[in-house]
Amino acid sequence: MPVDFEFAKEQEDVRSTVREFAEKYIAPRVVEFEEKQLIPPEIVREMSRLGLFGILFPEQYGGLGLDPVTAGIVLEEIVRADLTFSLAVAYLVHTSWGYVAYKYGNEEFREDVIRRAATGDVWIGIATTEPGAGSDLTGIATAARRDGDGYVIAGEKAYISGVREAKERGVWFPDGGGHVTLAYTDKSKQHRGMTLFFVPLTDPNVSIRLEKEFGRKGWSFGSFVLSDVRVPERYRIGEEGRGFYIAMEGFDHARAYIALACAVGGKRAIELALEYAKQRRAFGQPVASFQGVQFQLADNWAALEAAHALAYKALWALKMEQEGRIGRFEVTRITASAKLFAVQAAKRAIDDALRWYGAYGYTEENPVALALKAVKSYDWAEGSLDIMRLIVAREVVGREYTSKRK
Ligand SMILES: Cc1cc2nc3c(=O)[nH]c(=O)nc-3n(C[C@H](O)[C@H](O)[C@H](O)COP(=O)(O)OP(=O)(O)OC[C@H]3O[C@@H](n4cnc5c(N)ncnc54)[C@H](O)[C@@H]3O)c2cc1C
Repeated sequence: MPVDFEFAKEQEDVRSTVREFAEKYIAPRVVEFEEKQLIPPEIVREMSRLGLFGILFPEQYGGLGLDPVTAGIVLEEIVRADLTFSLAVAYLVHTSWGYVAYKYGNEEFREDVIRRAATGDVWIGIATTEPGAGSDLTGIATAARRDGDGYVIAGEKAYISGVREAKERGVWFPDGGGHVTLAYTDKSKQHRGMTLFFVPLTDPNVSIRLEKEFGRKGWSFGSFVLSDVRVPERYRIGEEGRGFYIAMEGFDHARAYIALACAVGGKRAIELALEYAKQRRAFGQPVASFQGVQFQLADNWAALEAAHALAYKALWALKMEQEGRIGRFEVTRITASAKLFAVQAAKRAIDDALRWYGAYGYTEENPVALALKAVKSYDWAEGSLDIMRLIVAREVVGREYTSKRK
């Protein structure tokens, strides 16, 4: 296949539709995201109306049937308008984990949940992390046991995005939402004994607690307790014992989108800070004319260009995987590399750009300051940078050289 950096006309059409929406609906209200610590529900409803929550789902289930590269184009426009990344989280988590739920969910599940997810009636999140386990998922305690024609799940999930939006039916999404939740069905088998379930947070046996997030405050972040929550068998995503592996696939999706969001957010932060630095004068000249500023800009821009290209390669790899043209481990290596590189490039670029503002950079209404807080979340969310290093090293050095952990 030839290398081609051009988007198709249909993809450019998607971009211009979303850009128009983002400029009209998102950009003017971003300040409210942090101040009120929520995304105005009208914005989410408009995204649903445009079909953006159904971007990857097949048309047969009410989705747009598009591919991960096109989903990335949508994300770019969302991030350019909202440097708090709140809306990016809402979009990319649902797009990644909704897709995996669709792929492994059975027909009854698709007709019930995926059809509603595609139209923005239900939001889909991810819940693997617990108070006692994050990077090492074998440490989770949540357990599911078979009970008649379903399962009963008990446990606690922590530091989970979108718990409030999923719990509150009829505000952001008509039916609230649920999380793709990792639980043991057979603890003795360690990671081979884990299974994924779709758990609606609207269930009365699920209680939530909100954390005070450091940044990206528009989309909630907190924990939920499952007190013997009963789910029907159709809410099991994939076979029993396959949950860990399916979760790894979901992480690959989310990491590719995160890499793109970071690359684009970093570039946008530089553009905004540069507008200011061209106006602001010191020692008789614009701040932007100092070579020290320009060299910093050049190094960061070059890194972000690389991150941007790698993020699209990661999205392309997901598409190739869907078409059966590339293997699982290769996808994992590319997506982990993309996240590892893009998060660091964006953090450095945004931190440098923020300095060009002088003291104005240290205020809460400065969008570049909000972007710095947002990209920091990706030191951990959807897998920490250290775990990205472990994955890349494992895939490049070889699994036989991976240190054995007890
Ligand atoms: C903003 C935000 C949103 C999140 N949203 C979600 C969500 O929606 N759903 C969800 O399930 N989780 C979510 N998380 C949790 C996230 O997935 C975890 O934070 C992440 O997996 C790391 O787990 P931990 O926080 O328990 O850190 P730990 O696993 O306790 O790790 C602590 C530190 O040790 C390092 N470390 C661990 N193991 C190794 C190793 N083998 N080698 C080297 N270093 C290592 C880690 O990199 C980290 O720096 C979110 C986190 C954040 C910050």
